[in-house]
Amino acid sequence: MKQTVARRLLNRMFVAGEVVEVEQVTSRMRRVRIGGEALAGLTWTPGQHVRLLIGDGGGLLGGALRTYSIWQYDPTWESMDLIGYDHGGDSPGTSWIRKAKPGMEIAFTRPDGGFVVKEEAPYHVFAGEETASVAFGAMLRALPDGERVFGAVEADGPGDHLDLAGDLVRVCRGGASAAGSKVLVDAVRALDLPDEPGVAYLAGEARTIQAVRAHLVNERGWQRRDVRTKPFWTPGRKGLD
Ligand SMILES: Cc1cc2nc3c(=O)[nH]c(=O)nc-3n(C[C@H](O)[C@H](O)[C@H](O)COP(=O)(O)OP(=O)(O)OC[C@H]3O[C@@H](n4cnc5c(N)ncnc54)[C@H](O)[C@@H]3O)c2cc1C
Repeated sequence: MKQTVARRLLNRMFVAGEVVEVEQVTSRMRRVRIGGEALAGLTWTPGQHVRLLIGDGGGLLGGALRTYSIWQYDPTWESMDLIGYDHGGDSPGTSWIRKAKPGMEIAFTRPDGGFVVKEEAPYHVFAGEETASVAFGAMLRALPDGERVFGAVEADGPGDHLDLAGDLVRVCRGGASAAGSKVLVDAVRALDLPDEPGVAYLAGEARTIQAVRAHLVNERGWQRRDVRTKPFWTPGRKGLD
């Protein structure tokens, strides 16, 4: 009886899907396509994410919830693509991304989140590392033609960048930590931006985001409201969001 109630609650909170395809897209990033009938009716705004229920959901949230942006959603083919970065640990999210293969079942929450592009912006600035580049890919594709786009994306090495639309500067941290990354702040500082503020989207490691925002506000005179931030992870914290 208890099990039935738990199962019903789980069904209400989560969407059931199955891994249908996996592709290594950079040396440390894998695209995982999840499909299933239940994916036909989802509502998604580019930039939004899902939370995967990794591990045993039978015990009602006995598993771990880990957040991944949707790279692409296709209602017709009842599928969505996530792209996970392998940060090298053996924590639930990265282990699942590493092991994902067709046939594996996975439950996840409906797409959610306010980290999406602002309509009517003078121009858009994107900055973040590998994890952020997944959301950026979807957001960039969603921008109407003719929008002005600037930005910098950091990855470990030259072969570690995702292919993104737009003309974003690519920088490498070369083995250094992505936490509190000076490389990314310097890359944003070097951008040749128009004199008036635009709208910035900063995601990825929390301390790096703070440093990039401090640069935009203190050195370029932007208002804090011009800067949309979404911390995705930080050392020592589990499953942010
Ligand atoms: C809204 C949102 C969207 C996200 N989208 C994506 C996405 O599309 N792709 C993606 O790969 N990630 C994405 N992330 C980040 C991802 O959820 C975290 O990296 C998450 O911590 C991974 O879970 P885990 O179980 O491996 O590690 P956790 O158990 O959560 O953390 C364990 C430890 O691992 C370390 N760690 C976690 N992430 C990283 C990292 N990226 N680099 C280095 N060390 C790390 C930290 O020290 C942390 O304390 C997103 C996060 C949020 C909040």
